[in-house]
Amino acid sequence: MTNTITDIKRPVNVHKTYHAHVYFDSDTKEIARGVCDKIAQQFDLKIGRFHERLVGPHPRWSCQVTFRAKHFDEFIPWLDANREGLTIFIHGLTGDYLKDHTDYAYWLEQSVELNLEMFQPNRIRRFAQNLNII
Ligand code: ZN
Repeated sequence: MTNTITDIKRPVNVHKTYHAHVYFDSDTKEIARGVCDKIAQQFDLKIGRFHERLVGPHPRWSCQVTFRAKHFDEFIPWLDANREGLTIFIHGLTGDYLKDHTDYAYWLEQSVELNLEMFQPNRIRRFAQNLNII
C-alpha cells in the first residue's frame, strides 16, 4: 500500500471514540512533548505514554490521545493549529483494528504508511504454519 498526498483523509466526526497519535522522532521529541503537555493543559483527555520507540502499527515514535465525538469540534481544529508542524494520525475506535487503521484513518498534514501486517487475520495462521503446529 502506498500513501500519496491524494490519499490523505481529513478527520470526520462520525465515530464515537478516536485516537490521535502525535508522531515525532529524535529531532522533534521536545516539540512533541510540548504539544502533548499543551493538550493536557487545555483538554480533559486521556493521554498515553510518550513512546520514544516504535509501538503497534506506528512507523514513528508516538504519543496517543483518546478523545470522543463530543470533543471533536473543539479538539481537532485546536490540534491542527497547535501541532507545531508534527504529523498527527487520527483514527476511529470501532473494535475492528484493521478498519480503524485503514478505512477510519485520518491525518493532519502528511500521511505515512502504517505497519498493518499485525492486523491481518492470516498472520496468526502464518505464525502457526512456521511453527508447524497447523
Ligand atoms: Zn490508536
